[in-house]
Amino acid sequence: MCGIVAYKGPKNCYPILIDGLHRLEYRGYDSAGVACLNDGKISITKRRGKVIQLEQGLKTDGKFQNCDGPGIAHTRWATHGKPNQINAHPHKDQSGNIVLVHNGIIENYNPIKKFLKSKKIKFKSETDTEVLVQLIGYFFNKGKLNFEQSVRAALQRVDGAYAIVVLNKKEPDVMIAARKGSPLVLGVKDNEFFVGSDISPIIKHTQQIVYLEDSQMAIIKDDEYKITSIDKDVSLPKKVEKIDFKIDDYDKGKFKYFMHKEIHEQIDTISNTITGRAKKDRVYLNGLLEYWAQIKEADKIFITACGTSWHAGLIGKNLIERFAKIPVHVEYASEFRYNKTLIDNNSVVIAISQSGETADTLAAIKKANEHGAITVGICNVPGSSVSRETNCGIFTRCGHEVGVASTKAFTAQISILYLLALKLAASNDAISKASLRSHLDFSENIKKIKNVLKKENEIKKIALKYKNANDFLYLGRGLNFPIALEGALKLKEISYIHAEGYPAAEMKHGPIALVDKNMPNVFIVPKDKTYDKIISNIEEIKSRKGKIIIITDSKDKILRDLANDLILVPKTNHFMFCHLATIVLQLFAYYIAVGKNLNVDQPRNLAKSVTVE
Ligand code: GLU
Repeated sequence: MCGIVAYKGPKNCYPILIDGLHRLEYRGYDSAGVACLNDGKISITKRRGKVIQLEQGLKTDGKFQNCDGPGIAHTRWATHGKPNQINAHPHKDQSGNIVLVHNGIIENYNPIKKFLKSKKIKFKSETDTEVLVQLIGYFFNKGKLNFEQSVRAALQRVDGAYAIVVLNKKEPDVMIAARKGSPLVLGVKDNEFFVGSDISPIIKHTQQIVYLEDSQMAIIKDDEYKITSIDKDVSLPKKVEKIDFKIDDYDKGKFKYFMHKEIHEQIDTISNTITGRAKKDRVYLNGLLEYWAQIKEADKIFITACGTSWHAGLIGKNLIERFAKIPVHVEYASEFRYNKTLIDNNSVVIAISQSGETADTLAAIKKANEHGAITVGICNVPGSSVSRETNCGIFTRCGHEVGVASTKAFTAQISILYLLALKLAASNDAISKASLRSHLDFSENIKKIKNVLKKENEIKKIALKYKNANDFLYLGRGLNFPIALEGALKLKEISYIHAEGYPAAEMKHGPIALVDKNMPNVFIVPKDKTYDKIISNIEEIKSRKGKIIIITDSKDKILRDLANDLILVPKTNHFMFCHLATIVLQLFAYYIAVGKNLNVDQPRNLAKSVTVE
């Protein structure tokens, strides 16, 4: 979602900015734009659609070759106003002096817009962003405040979340960046400065990074910079960190889509997440060491997350309660942040986010920190806001995930939660050493992922049979209820088919009304203690003529008789069955979307990293 990259230095800024925008593409966006200050003039180019169209536009206009900068660039994920060229960033103030890119939402844009209109200021776009740049321009053009003071004055009057970078052609040697709520980082290298909404557009240029803190501004002037607060012009310490992190180059290898590649990578990513952390009868989660004494004493644990990560949280609850016998409350981060959640300084709050930049999850962490809870982050991106704002944490180590629909990050998250549940159980003597050893012996089970991937063609054939269905039900019990939710979400995200996940027995309390001869029902059926019960649930749907698709590790004839289609996965343990069923459901959703000729990696309306509330 919405990305920012900016550059100030001696080089032509266009190649740096365009490369940076490409590196931000994974976040999802609908339009892109760039502004460069050249010879005292601001030159803006914007396009609806993809960065490649913007790049072509710049090349055709002959602009790409040269801009001695500074320059700012943006990928927009529309919140206020249609995703069109006019609403794309950068935006200018009426005088044309000031130009700005913005991530986030200006919540009080309406009264400010009314005020500015009363001052005869005319607006070109429908965005909340233009209101902010016009407000900065309003202060600057009155002539009493310099550029920095004008930005500060405007920011002190806006509510909401933002990360911004601003240029002013009247002060061409200055670039200002500021943030509140939305992340922003500054990269420094001798006389060059880079700003990014995360480190991905910067890290190939410099490893010297300043993570701007909330309500901070960076003012870069000539070859110097200072950090101040938005509230006051007092210089704050420059906390430069050396980030040892390599962003892999984007390469789909033999695959057409990143999502497909990432589904196949899971054999490695699941074992990378676990390897080195599980040995014989011990679990090593070194990122938690400093706080482990308190974490293991928790009498209640909260898990907060959004989307797919929230589904991982539900699995975490099941595992922690089952193995460690500690009650766990799971809440959407967007609710957690506002609800009267009963957290205090004895609470442990686990926040899960693939990107580590999810705005609601960050707000939930902030709330937990303010209440004195111990905050634990589970995320995939070292250096991300989640990894910095929690007390301690565990990385999922599954490499850059590019496909917007999360796949390998989910299976890595549930692997981490499995290890955490077992470690808590071991610390609290809730599990025997022998049992722990058998749970931690992944070596044989991980190999079974390969068998599932080999069934790809079979899964594809079944998926294509159902690609024109309008609605799906996904049903599972226990650990496989969250897997049903996740399977349904994958299908919705990339194929735009309506799908619901339910606990299999709960289906009788409403959703069964939807069932008719056209409706596919995906049942996840491990041979476990609820096996007989779930067979009754399948019968209930079957007798209403619903189509039955079964994913199971059982060869029982009764399942074959009940199913219209059946996918058999190898026998393993309960937990590894979840992984295998997940991979089947990922491939199933993938082939339905491909069968419908959809862009699997960048589904409509979705963003990879949801940095607005
Ligand atoms: N609210 C702004 C807009 O709709 C910024 C959206 C974004 O973060 O990309 O233009």
